[in-house]
Amino acid sequence: MSANLSSSPPSTPDPSVPQRPLVAIIGAGPAGLMAADRLVQAGLAPVLFDRMPAPARKFLMAGRGGLNLTHSEPLDLFLTRYGAAAAHLAPAIRAFPPDAVRAFAQELGEPTFTGSSGRVFPQSFKASPMLRAWLRRLGAGGATLRLRHHWAGWTSEGALAFQTPDGPVEMVADATILALGGASWPRLGANGGWAALLKAQGLEVAPFAPANMGVRLAWSEHLRTRFAGTPVKRIALSCAGVRVRGEAVITAEGLEGGAVYALSSRIRDLVTEAGTASIQMDLRPDLDAAHLAARLTAAPAKLSFAERLRKAGGLSPVQAGLLREGMGERPHTAEALAHLIKAVPLTVTGVCGLERAISSAGGLAWSQVGADYGVRGHDGLFACGEMLDWEAPTGGYLLQACLATGRAAAEGIIAYLRADPGEKDRKSFEFRS
Ligand SMILES: Cc1cc2nc3c(=O)[nH]c(=O)nc-3n(C[C@H](O)[C@H](O)[C@H](O)COP(=O)(O)OP(=O)(O)OC[C@H]3O[C@@H](n4cnc5c(N)ncnc54)[C@H](O)[C@@H]3O)c2cc1C
Repeated sequence: MSANLSSSPPSTPDPSVPQRPLVAIIGAGPAGLMAADRLVQAGLAPVLFDRMPAPARKFLMAGRGGLNLTHSEPLDLFLTRYGAAAAHLAPAIRAFPPDAVRAFAQELGEPTFTGSSGRVFPQSFKASPMLRAWLRRLGAGGATLRLRHHWAGWTSEGALAFQTPDGPVEMVADATILALGGASWPRLGANGGWAALLKAQGLEVAPFAPANMGVRLAWSEHLRTRFAGTPVKRIALSCAGVRVRGEAVITAEGLEGGAVYALSSRIRDLVTEAGTASIQMDLRPDLDAAHLAARLTAAPAKLSFAERLRKAGGLSPVQAGLLREGMGERPHTAEALAHLIKAVPLTVTGVCGLERAISSAGGLAWSQVGADYGVRGHDGLFACGEMLDWEAPTGGYLLQACLATGRAAAEGIIAYLRADPGEKDRKSFEFRS
């Protein structure tokens, strides 16, 4: 249950002997691990706790489809991806920007490359080699990891209270970082259960909502049975005047995939307001309507409608299926058909839930967190990562903000411990820069 992060480095402290000052980090996802990394660099020996039997389960899951660490676009544009939270996150991200994330990955033996979309990945594409190297480095620096420790709040004396398979455990920490994650994919560890604990302390927590999730559409039986699981490549999706190029995947319930995720928060808000949302799918974003109409007109008259779509329209079977879903009456002219191919109207009836959303919106309100990521009114308590109230599209923006805020919270703790040496026994401790 208690595990040294590295195999057995000689410098690893015995976890049963608390180091002073003792910094507890609760949540061993990328935000908590990055906070630990900075604290170790400063000469501290933090203790990381996680409720799961293994650390960073969501980070490992993120690596399954290609670990998108950050994005290569200019920083000013990058910061706009965080919408309303951009001003809050900007100082932390400027202090630990995408280039720093890339350099960090390289230090862990994972040089990065930039994909054609500008997204940045480790060369192995995976999370596991990076995580292994990261845990080794933390262990060698003196951090320890205690797994299957479910944080359950504070005791009446202010100690951290954990539930473990061996019964309750308490720990008095000089400073604590909460890095408890959001509420999506709860089976990977972050289930948002911490929100009730913080609300009980009088802290404001914005309600969780799925972000970067699939959307629901009432497909015909034919489309569902024939095409569920089929990708639809090189399309553009539009919603409320915003257009995104990318790809989607047909599911039994609706649509998921990159282009859908990019619009999903906008769609979610429309569905919340109005019950449904209208989206349009451009099945041939590479051709304008006039060009497409000319090709449809030039096709031999003897072609059936299906053949016309395939041969002149260049539509695959799944694209033709989607066109029929949104078609209503069959268009009478090539121009009308071309316009339909360029903007198939589809009605979203709902969004998928937190269970399979890539991330969550909501979390600890910014009004409750200072510029140093200290939690207001709770001396020595800091928070970072996805548990804070921000959301962003996929593209590396999620991990970038988690890593940067983890680092910023660690800086907050270092300043906090330096500022008030009287209260804490730090005789044997020297800060390194
Ligand atoms: C399928 C998928 C793919 C993704 N792909 C990408 C990607 O390519 N790029 C990208 O930028 N982002 C991606 N993400 C999102 C990214 O993984 C998360 O935003 C990130 O992991 C959040 O980091 P975190 O450290 O804040 O929280 P988490 O990684 O969720 O870690 C929080 C930790 O806290 C622990 N915890 C929670 N409550 C308690 C408690 N009470 N007591 C003790 N421990 C507790 C949890 O067990 C967990 O280990 C993906 C997510 C998913 C689900």
